[in-house]
Amino acid sequence: MQRCWRYVLLFLFISLFFYHSGACQPGCPQIYYDLTIKEGDWQTFYVNITIARPPHNRVVFVMPSWSPGGYMLGEYSKYVRHVQAKDADGKQLTTLQVNPSAWEVSLPTAKTMCFSYELKVSPRGFMGRSLTETYARINGPSTYMYLKGAKEKPVTVTFHLPTGWKIAIGLEEFKLPNSYWAPNYDIFVDAPALLGKFKQFQFDVAGVPHIVTITGETDFDQQKFVETVKRIVTYETQQLFNDIPYSKYVFMFNIYPGERGGGGLEHLNSTTIGLAGEKLKVDPTSGANVTAHEFFHLWNVKRIRPKVLGPFDYTKDVRTTALWFCEGVTCYYADLTCLRTGIWSVEKFWQNQAKQIAQHQEAYDRLQTSVEMASWKIWETGYGSAGVSFYTKGQILALLLDLQIREVTDNRRSLDDVIRFLNCWFAKYDEGYEERDLLRAVNSITNSDFSQFFDRYVSGTVEIPYADFLQHAGLKLHLESKKVPDIGRLVIMGPKNRVFNVEKGSPVDEVGIKRGDYLLSIDGQTVSSREDIARVVNSKEEGQSVAIEILRGDNKLNFVVPVRLKDKVNCRIDQVARPTEKQQRIYQGLIAGTTD
Ligand SMILES: [Zn+2]
Repeated sequence: MQRCWRYVLLFLFISLFFYHSGACQPGCPQIYYDLTIKEGDWQTFYVNITIARPPHNRVVFVMPSWSPGGYMLGEYSKYVRHVQAKDADGKQLTTLQVNPSAWEVSLPTAKTMCFSYELKVSPRGFMGRSLTETYARINGPSTYMYLKGAKEKPVTVTFHLPTGWKIAIGLEEFKLPNSYWAPNYDIFVDAPALLGKFKQFQFDVAGVPHIVTITGETDFDQQKFVETVKRIVTYETQQLFNDIPYSKYVFMFNIYPGERGGGGLEHLNSTTIGLAGEKLKVDPTSGANVTAHEFFHLWNVKRIRPKVLGPFDYTKDVRTTALWFCEGVTCYYADLTCLRTGIWSVEKFWQNQAKQIAQHQEAYDRLQTSVEMASWKIWETGYGSAGVSFYTKGQILALLLDLQIREVTDNRRSLDDVIRFLNCWFAKYDEGYEERDLLRAVNSITNSDFSQFFDRYVSGTVEIPYADFLQHAGLKLHLESKKVPDIGRLVIMGPKNRVFNVEKGSPVDEVGIKRGDYLLSIDGQTVSSREDIARVVNSKEEGQSVAIEILRGDNKLNFVVPVRLKDKVNCRIDQVARPTEKQQRIYQGLIAGTTD
């Protein structure tokens, strides 16, 4: 009861703030979150949502079913415990769970109400929550329920933490201790929080602060690591976009022991990235590509976004055919950023483009599944499937579009102009684009018609004539394939080798290994990467088998997986011996990020 009155007083203050800031009209609900971590209780988060002026005499609180950026449904509500609601006098309000993710509260007379629940930690990487004696990580959508019908209203959040804990979050500070605010629920939950004791660095670019937090392993050259992050930020904001659309940006790095990283997840004003400690020890720039990728996303997918990707529907899958642009173009610009900042050599850049082509040529369904269809079906196929990948083919299409745009405009325009155009005409108006707007943008920039390119390679499944595009920059392609031993693709992630995807119809699928299993060993050897698995399999011949040990729940299972032969594609991109003057201009323009 005492607690709820405290919030009523806080509301007077908060209401005045929003009223004067123009964010809210008198009479609209005020939404105030508290997240508490209790010293010594490292299993539970306590969440309280206080609503002033609830809109109806019945209100519904909903736990999202997915997190933007990770296109898969999660059972976030299964970690919820002890749901209850009270009015300002501390009187219990009737609360009914109306479906697995929603709770309805009856409010006969309440002017202010407090809705609270406990949340257990959940081990789902970026989509979950972790809590240790040292720090906690919070992913917004899997932590905070929303008031149905009020997602567009401003919210504040206050963290109540063990003594000495700090906060890193990409939201603006509110005028109360440990408090932040967001203009709506989407922006609020798009800001993961790192709470606790961690290393923190800061640098400014064009007067805007960038915060770099590091948790986990720290035995590497952190100064050089942070300098690398700054080079990436400087290139993308000052040269590529000439735009800093945020007042603060937070990089949250978690460094794992060993050779395995954990990928990254993009957010509006922050990112969470997992890197491999052993690799950083050898090369402090080894996390540059994923950092450049997640940072580029603050434009492409967050602000330059398909219409369905914001405002979000958190209750069901939200589909778009444009993920090839959101992810593939982002992969291409991550590589270009590494190249144009000198973090990567020119050779490494072309090797990586060649690698994408080789991978795409190995996709078993490349002549049946378009990159648009692969985008649409991600909710079923999951990441890392052996079929067409919108990351891989999307990146190839970005390179080919860049070359074709430079060719038809005599190197006066490039793909850089297209993304800047989209930034000006969609992101700056906070408008999502329709899928067909991408073709329109390319056509406007080039004054040409690219519909054949989109029909064939984006919507269609025509075999890509790589050489026709590469020759614009005086480049040639060498493609060859040979038979190699194979058991099918087994995608593993995280320090415990969680099986993230299993290639359909392949030997690993046929013996019964499933997504969600944990890979313990292959032929008695512990492995930690795709390369490790390949090493074991490559030592076999057709007709032999490998023994795979799996942990499923509490059970150890042993599988004998037969080895088959599969085509392995190798690809190399070289410069022609005597490029023409135009080919040289296009090549140099692409490398340097310039046009004529
Ligand atoms: Zn991405």
